Amino acid sequence: MAGERQPDCLFCKIVSGEVPATVVRETETTVAFRDINPQAPTHVLVIPKVHYPDAATLAAAEPGVAADVLREAGAVADDEKLDSSGYRIVLNTGSGAGQTVFHAHAHVLGGRGLTWPPG
Ligand code: 5GP
Repeated sequence: MAGERQPDCLFCKIVSGEVPATVVRETETTVAFRDINPQAPTHVLVIPKVHYPDAATLAAAEPGVAADVLREAGAVADDEKLDSSGYRIVLNTGSGAGQTVFHAHAHVLGGRGLTWPPG
């Protein structure tokens, strides 16, 4: 069934608690936790509890949950006091764009200067 937990998915295992993570926020539909390999002083991943391979697929199937992910990304930025300096929400989609975990997730990056275009 669409959105169902995938037994071999790393982020599904973080949702279930089978793999530990430093969780900073949780809602009924989302979990936010610190990236294991941070690329900025703040680097938090916001994921839906349901499993979809990427953000666009999630948005097409469950737009309310996709909105929850974005809202929580903003809440993380608030919690980390990133609003004044700016921050970036990144949705890598596909291996060519650097996606390595195929469970939808938003990166929230901030706390340092961020250049454009990204690499
Ligand atoms: P992607 O490259 O798919 O956009 O992002 C996946 C992110 O997951 C990477 O930034 C990577 O560092 C992070 N990551 C991979 N494995 C783990 C893990 O076991 N725990 C946590 N907290 N982050 C992970």
